Formats: sequence, C-alpha cells, structure tokens
Amino acid sequence: MHLKIITHQKLVFDEDVDEIYTKGTAGEFGILPNHIPIMSALDIGVTKIIQDGKARYFTTMGGVLQFKDNEAIILTPTAEDGNDIDVARAKEALARARAKLAERDAELDVKRTEAAVARALARLKATMTN
Ligand code: ATP
Repeated sequence: MHLKIITHQKLVFDEDVDEIYTKGTAGEFGILPNHIPIMSALDIGVTKIIQDGKARYFTTMGGVLQFKDNEAIILTPTAEDGNDIDVARAKEALARARAKLAERDAELDVKRTEAAVARALARLKATMTN
C-alpha cells in the first residue's frame, strides 16, 4: 500500500509502506494492506510506518487520514520526519509552553498552549524512537 503525508508546505512522505500506525482523535489505530476504506480525524502525535520490517516515525499534527484502495493520504497542517527534528528546539518549545501554563495568566490561550506542548512532546517522541 502507499502513503502520502501532505502539509500546507510540502509533500513530507510519498512511498510504499507495509503498516501504518497513527493517532486518531478517538485513539491510536493501525492500517494493514487491504484495510476497508476509512476516514479519521487525527490528533497531534506520531505516525509510525513499517517498511521492509523497519520502523520510521513522523510527527502528524492533526488533520485527517483517508484510506481507500490501498492508498493512504494524511493531510495535516504540520508534519516532520523524526530524523529532521531539531531536539533542542522542541525542548525549548516544551519548556516555554509549560512555563506559560504554570503562570496561570487569565489572558493565556490555554488550548493553544496545550497544543504547543503536544507538538513538542510528539517531536521528542518521534526523535527518541528513531
Ligand atoms: P516553535 O515554538 O519551536 O516554533 P511550534 O510548535 O510553534 O514550535 P510549528 O508552528 O508547529 O512550531 O511549526 C512551524 C514550522 O517549524 C514548521 O515548518 C515545523 O515543521 C517547523 N518546526 C517546529 N519545530 C521544529 C523542530 N523542533 N524541529 C524541526 N522543525 C520544526
């Protein structure tokens, strides 16, 4: 089966894969070849793919996955190959967002800051597992 990961900016991944595991808004799920058609909203998290018995990890920051006729498409605002992630930057983003949440400022956009935490954690997870 084939997987494309597409963001606003670019085609992040476009290759044949054997297995896909990702994080839907209703929980993690996997897709093997010949899976029935599926459409799922994605959460901020890590998408793991298996190719020739080897795992690769990508961040997928929300969006949607569609699977039909052995073609999977993930449309997501932001995605990165785990190997391309700047770990120091993700750690800084995590610390910044957590510090903001700790301040409990009434003006803070909590949802947005929690999403920043989730993106940073997804990035760190995608690099640690690579
Ligand atoms: P930061 O606060 O570090 O910018 P962010 O979560 O706000 O993090 P995004 O808005 O999700 O960043 O992403 C903006 C762009 O920067 C995207 O192209 C994304 O792929 C890239 N990017 C963000 N963080 C990293 C990182 N740690 N390593 C590599 N690319 C990153």
